[in-house]
Amino acid sequence: MPTAPAGPTREGSMTVSETPTAPDSPGTVIGIDLGGTKVLAAVVAPDGRILSRDKASSRGTSSYEELLARIADTARAAASAAGVELDSVVGVGIGVPGTVDQDAGIVRIAPNLDWRDVPVSSTLSDLLGLPVIADNDVNVAALAEHRLGTGKGLPSLLGVFIGTGIGGGLAIDGGLHRGAHQAAAEIGHMVIKAGGPRCPCGRRGCLEALGSRTAISREIARQVAAGRSSRLVKLAGGDVRNAKGGALRKAYAGGDKLTRRVVDASARYVGIGVGSLVNVVDPAIVAL
Ligand SMILES: [Zn+2]
Repeated sequence: MPTAPAGPTREGSMTVSETPTAPDSPGTVIGIDLGGTKVLAAVVAPDGRILSRDKASSRGTSSYEELLARIADTARAAASAAGVELDSVVGVGIGVPGTVDQDAGIVRIAPNLDWRDVPVSSTLSDLLGLPVIADNDVNVAALAEHRLGTGKGLPSLLGVFIGTGIGGGLAIDGGLHRGAHQAAAEIGHMVIKAGGPRCPCGRRGCLEALGSRTAISREIARQVAAGRSSRLVKLAGGDVRNAKGGALRKAYAGGDKLTRRVVDASARYVGIGVGSLVNVVDPAIVAL
């Protein structure tokens, strides 16, 4: 999930851009989801069916070249598992957790990967011998929901993705609304509570600082440190700040009072943020 509020400073005049699908002719493609801990590759048929998947760790590499080589290997393994020759794949799309200069195919900044100005498209294209398009992971997730998922057939979709941070994407008429500076729909950095908790972006009271999993864990940890008890302490292996989604789910479903109170408060903040966005954008559907 993106945490940086500011996109590249490149000026642009487009508000709704045509999202490139590399080839004009339909064909089998490879989709790659690059995250801070793992990389997933899937071979996708022209009708949207996933033919095979493969995954690898995205940790423990010493350079971006090494990680991109591992990503290429993961893509090859997925193609092999599907019985598909790379020659017959028409293109590769990769979603990256960061700010992407989509026209140049360069990841400007991806904090979770410690990447800055990484030429993802050209490097991966050289490794695989295929056209590669890179974009922000949340943008492509919103676009996929719009074209293939809950927003299929509808004129617009607002995607809200909550995890370590909170990201958003606004898909309209089959394309993405990117904004004048490629930074539209950074909904995690809308200020919901003036003077609220500090956000990774430096401001206070952003939605991400109130409604993300990180924010929930941090607030529970704060209250535990102040003397309150919570089953989450045990479920998270003693360190609530590192509580994963599964541990939070168990604590919530098990009726842990502190977890319930904090999660419910976070959900309310998300509701306030999404409700305000609906007032502005009036999307046909919201995908949470
Ligand atoms: Zn923020």
